[in-house]
Amino acid sequence: MRATGSQILDRVADVLALLRGLQTLRCPEADCLVRIRFRAVISEEVKRLTALATDHTLHAHHH
Ligand SMILES: [Zn+2]
Repeated sequence: MRATGSQILDRVADVLALLRGLQTLRCPEADCLVRIRFRAVISEEVKRLTALATDHTLHAHHH
């Protein structure tokens, strides 16, 4: 995958979020902009949010 300038800025924003104690989950679909940002919480909640972020069938209607 070729990184565009905006994608690099996107990564920087994710790193900055991480430094503030936030984690970013993003959909694996390249064209999908769905992402979930959260503060590290209990593992059950992380699992639930991860499933939500990575299941593109849950956000496919945005296309
Ligand atoms: Zn998606």
